[in-house]
Amino acid sequence: MTLKTVKTTVLKSSRKLGLLGAVGRSSWRTRRLLILCYHGVSQHDEHLWNQALYLPLDTFRRHMELLVRNDCSVLSLGEAVSRLRRSDLPPRSVVITFDDGPYDFLVRALPVIREFGFPVTVYQTSYYSSFNRPVFDVACSYLLWKGADQRIEGREFTGVQGLLDLSDEANRSAVCFQIRQVAHRTGLSAAGKDELLERLASALKVDLGHLRTNRILHLMKPEELNQVLGEGIDLQLHTHRHRMPGDRTLFAREIIDNRNFLAEVGQPSADHFCYPSGVYEERFLPWLSDLGVQSATTCDPGLATRTTPSLLLPRIVVPSALSDIEFEGWLHGFSHALPRRPIRRHVPVG
Ligand SMILES: [Zn+2]
Repeated sequence: MTLKTVKTTVLKSSRKLGLLGAVGRSSWRTRRLLILCYHGVSQHDEHLWNQALYLPLDTFRRHMELLVRNDCSVLSLGEAVSRLRRSDLPPRSVVITFDDGPYDFLVRALPVIREFGFPVTVYQTSYYSSFNRPVFDVACSYLLWKGADQRIEGREFTGVQGLLDLSDEANRSAVCFQIRQVAHRTGLSAAGKDELLERLASALKVDLGHLRTNRILHLMKPEELNQVLGEGIDLQLHTHRHRMPGDRTLFAREIIDNRNFLAEVGQPSADHFCYPSGVYEERFLPWLSDLGVQSATTCDPGLATRTTPSLLLPRIVVPSALSDIEFEGWLHGFSHALPRRPIRRHVPVG
């Protein structure tokens, strides 16, 4: 019996016995804040490629319905963080966040959000918003998945002679890593990376035009970000290039460039941050404080309490494989007590 099956059985029995609801109504849960982390809602088949990053539209809609059905208090990030500190949270408080700000947020997630009227924060990385091409790292991974049945010579892409084995996820992931390493080592520009994607797609016989036309794996453009701001979406910090350099000056540059970009598209203030790929180091905390950052979210699963450090707030990364009962388990806080595997961190962007 898998861990997931055991958890599902426990959750279903607990609901039947009224335990799930009792935990959800408890003062223990009321003192805690649940922050949900989404990335993308599929336009096409993205959730079949990466279940950690993408959800089908109907799954996302069902999650929003479950928030209503379970009588959750969906708060904006800013309000939730300040009420958490004042021990003033309403019952079953939840914050909805999205990472990266892909185009599918505008055309898939936003219409559903609009319908439910929930406040949402998008942690927006900026470089690929202005340079509006497929985001290299994720597009590379997607192309290798689409062309998995092809046998192509790797030298041009990985620098290693021999046919690429794309037959399983581990091999594709290793090949993707090699390609990214070569691009990094050779100092390939963003335009150079874009050309590389063209060559890779052509070799794998994958239609890159489909990605470009439908803006799959693209970020929202500055004018689109201005539009979502007009609809009440909150845009917050996620670094300019989706990376956190170990050098303090370069680290600050990532935040400042990102913040300036958000100000230019119309975000009044950007003082909340999300660690790219959920990766953080202790030394980043004073750096972020000095930059005026009020809160920062990780991808460490759990619920935040009043004493959780503001710059290390946990979040639940919502993969498409999460069942409805598992999702409800988190809404009520019950899943906090269940054993869990660490959730895979998402592929870096940029
Ligand atoms: Zn991200």
